[in-house]
Amino acid sequence: MTPIDHIPRVKLTSLPTPIEPLSNLSRHLGGPKILVKRDDLTTLGMGGNKTRKLEFLVADALEQGADTLITTGGVQSNHCRLTAAAATRHGLHCELILGADSVPQGVSSGNLMLDQILGARLHFVPLAQRNQKMEEVAAELRKTGRTPYIVPLGGSNGLGAIGYANAMVELKGQLCHMDWLVDHIIFPTSSGGTQAGMQLGAHISGFQGHLTGISIDQTLDNGFPESLASIANDAAGILGLEWVATPGQFALNADYLGGGYGVMGDLEREAIVLAARTEGLFVDPVYSARALGGMIHMIDQGTLPAGETILFWHTGGTPALFAYADALDA
Ligand SMILES: *Cc1c(COP(=O)(O)O)cnc(C)c1O
Repeated sequence: MTPIDHIPRVKLTSLPTPIEPLSNLSRHLGGPKILVKRDDLTTLGMGGNKTRKLEFLVADALEQGADTLITTGGVQSNHCRLTAAAATRHGLHCELILGADSVPQGVSSGNLMLDQILGARLHFVPLAQRNQKMEEVAAELRKTGRTPYIVPLGGSNGLGAIGYANAMVELKGQLCHMDWLVDHIIFPTSSGGTQAGMQLGAHISGFQGHLTGISIDQTLDNGFPESLASIANDAAGILGLEWVATPGQFALNADYLGGGYGVMGDLEREAIVLAARTEGLFVDPVYSARALGGMIHMIDQGTLPAGETILFWHTGGTPALFAYADALDA
């Protein structure tokens, strides 16, 4: 038992997610032993990391009597797709505010297509207006007698982060059972709930290794470490823990921002092809390929030395691959 077991939660996926050795990739790189934690295989709506957060956020929405989930993300947002999928499980409506400078034309693909199949109502607004639009949609719904619940970008608040604190407890149990020792966990980080939760979960579970977030779109001078600490502290507060996170505690690597959010470059393209051709494993162009590409570069440079065991946390996103067919050129 941990304090997390007292927090209301709905079940949206079978757990634990598998851990597998990537022996061919390890051999190919001539570096450390590499394991992968398959959160791309959470069972709701084609999988991904947002499911663990939504288990707590949807429970809160239901407790508050909500009939509609509202959230936001990019046009190819995995978080929006999974929020729409979670809504269907609980008989809730879903309104998605998708950041786009113009309404996408032509045949929709990837996550956008899945949002449509799931029956979510879509609103396209410029990126800068996303939060305001969520409030506007919520106000309109309230006028008609509905009860909306706003899920923040990426599900990244204290309550959502508890999903990843719990994931670390899950991981620690699996590692003990398999007698594996992990020196370093590598994963993509963007809105921060995953990393904030993992850091808290490392404390709760007594995980001793390093945790490094590969930044997808955040530089380190714009308050990102501070927001990680704030999310983690909110999560600890909800759990009634004395633990305090400081911004300096979060290990972040912002060397792989490339062309910016959602822009697939050589780093991502090569990681997608290498993972597929050594392991039959798909990573997504926006998040997991950027983090895997960063990890491969760190192995090549010796920053992640050969004697260690590295766990790559696969956070999902693979449906977005289909929206990048033109850029893949494999
Ligand atoms: C949202 C997302 C992330 C980043 O998680 P945060 O909690 O937003 O930092 C990583 N990978 C995938 C596939 C995602 O969809």
